[in-house]
Amino acid sequence: MHLNRLSIRAIRDGIRRKEFSCQELAEACLKAATEHDARIHSILHLDQEGLLKQAKAHDKTLAAGRELPALAGVVTGIKDNLHVAGMPTTCASKVLESFQPIYEATAVRRLKELGAGIIGKLNCDEFAMGSSNENSAFGPVRNPVNEDLVPGGSSGGSAAAVAGGFCHASLGSDTGGSIRQPGSFCNVVGLKPTYGSVSRRGLVAFASSFDQIGPLAHSVEDIWEIFKAICGKDEQDASSLSGVAYAEPDFSRGLGGLRVGWAKEFFGEGVDEVIATHIKKRLEMFEKAGAKLVEVSLSRLQDALPVYYILSSAEASSNLARYDSIRYGNRLANGTTVDDIFFENRSQGFGAEVKRRILLGTYVLSEGYYDAYYLKAQKVRTLIRQDFARAFEKCDVLVGPTSPIAPFALGAKFEDALAMYMADILTVPASIAGIPALSLPAGMDSRSLPVGMQVMAPALGDSALIEAAHAMESAMKGDVK
Ligand code: GLN
Repeated sequence: MHLNRLSIRAIRDGIRRKEFSCQELAEACLKAATEHDARIHSILHLDQEGLLKQAKAHDKTLAAGRELPALAGVVTGIKDNLHVAGMPTTCASKVLESFQPIYEATAVRRLKELGAGIIGKLNCDEFAMGSSNENSAFGPVRNPVNEDLVPGGSSGGSAAAVAGGFCHASLGSDTGGSIRQPGSFCNVVGLKPTYGSVSRRGLVAFASSFDQIGPLAHSVEDIWEIFKAICGKDEQDASSLSGVAYAEPDFSRGLGGLRVGWAKEFFGEGVDEVIATHIKKRLEMFEKAGAKLVEVSLSRLQDALPVYYILSSAEASSNLARYDSIRYGNRLANGTTVDDIFFENRSQGFGAEVKRRILLGTYVLSEGYYDAYYLKAQKVRTLIRQDFARAFEKCDVLVGPTSPIAPFALGAKFEDALAMYMADILTVPASIAGIPALSLPAGMDSRSLPVGMQVMAPALGDSALIEAAHAMESAMKGDVK
């Protein structure tokens, strides 16, 4: 039995039956991390002591005959753009290299309150900008499925740490695909919840109208366990939704009667043939298992990528203005005037991709270009939302590939920003619309590379999405490693 790869349910049952202790669970994850993470590089800050201390405390509680909280024994890892008390938050940037947060992210606090352990902070692209995790100022992450390949990004560390068995589940953040795409590349499940379901308090802002925290894990059931723990209204985040109660998914439901929508745009230009064929075969399989396939039209999807890069960069340019080495951020250089200090520190502190976003964002917000780019993109954002709303009149979920391309070799796309942006064409639409979307491992393709299937649902349909994804996961079982 690999204690570092157990499901949350198996952890709960095993602890209750005294088959293993919380300490043994923590030690199994730490052992895997110590043996393999020097190569994978998914962990930027390891908290061995804290994890063991908490595990031992749980074991004592149990020995004293008291109940353990629901996530006791579950080892998690946290993307390094989320604040955890007592640990640094670097956002994988030189700008924040030694930054110690003074409060904790609400999602993290909620995990801890349910007894989850935290192994440490996980590597990512600098300020969550990227699709390969090669933009980390502290070095890239390798994909545990095949170490020559990138793990995807920006939550590459969060996906790799789960795939590598260093934690049972992790938290990532998704602005335009950063949970789903690395989930797909590393063969794990990743959920971007409905915008507003999970509080963003304690998540370092990239593009505030898109950013959402979500879980990565080995199975859909585990995703539900973590999502259930972290979602819900937070008075400290005005954009978190109130009055939403997510129903417990019915995990005994199959695919019978489920209306599965697909659009030709998911399989069109820019989408790898092998991946498209693989996902189409899965759709046929679902149909045989009782699902009803429905073709829908999402003609505005072709505009999603420019809309996303205009709006997210505009928001980023504003959010990142605070890192001037006076209000926030390291003082890496001195200067005689305030302008000098800002200029030198921002020049030295930020990596190339972050600078590119700040420049693009400042440009589209500037007088004379605002109407042509920013305002227009906002209008098209509305049209894309409407496209989805119309599609969901005909189907319960939408299914397509998560990524248009297979995981690629380290360095293969690093110099080509546009090729990297193209990796997001299938994930940014759900971010623009604010709807929940999940990436599900759909097996290895003919080249032995993992393929992720993206399942999307209407806003606030997170429970139904998880229920449908679980039915698909079960249908593919046996075929999927
Ligand atoms: N790859 C996308 C980008 O670079 C998405 C990033 C994210 O979701 N944080 O913007």
